[in-house]
Amino acid sequence: MDEVLLNWPELRARLAQSRFRSRFRLSESDRALIAREGWETIAGHSRKIVRERLAPAAPRNDGRQTPMRGHPVFVAQHATATCCRGCLAKWHGIPAGRPLSTEEIEFVVSVHLAWLREAAGDLSGFPSQGTLDLIIPQINSER
Ligand SMILES: [Zn+2]
Repeated sequence: MDEVLLNWPELRARLAQSRFRSRFRLSESDRALIAREGWETIAGHSRKIVRERLAPAAPRNDGRQTPMRGHPVFVAQHATATCCRGCLAKWHGIPAGRPLSTEEIEFVVSVHLAWLREAAGDLSGFPSQGTLDLIIPQINSER
């Protein structure tokens, strides 16, 4: 399996060309949840959601498994075309019909964090218990 690398500026530019993808926004309660939990915990939520709902070779209800709201990661999934295996294949070149590799899972988590970090904006007005310092692996290679 080739290493899966995130070029966020390139992906962000592609997503911006989709009216559907670019209309997703975080709600105030999404932003409050991120501030309350901190980025490490949100990354853990993303990893759990990806492992359970996206990573199996044949995810349950594939194509309809991602709610439109209810957790910031769900919103990030629609905004970044990581909502189902069809979108992962079409937008990210990750084939459907087989389990995601660990590298691919971490790629999707990185995509979520990159989008969420920008979409959340300034969280300093919310009560926080977790760390709001987020380090997204900076990988500049093309994928
Ligand atoms: Zn999808």
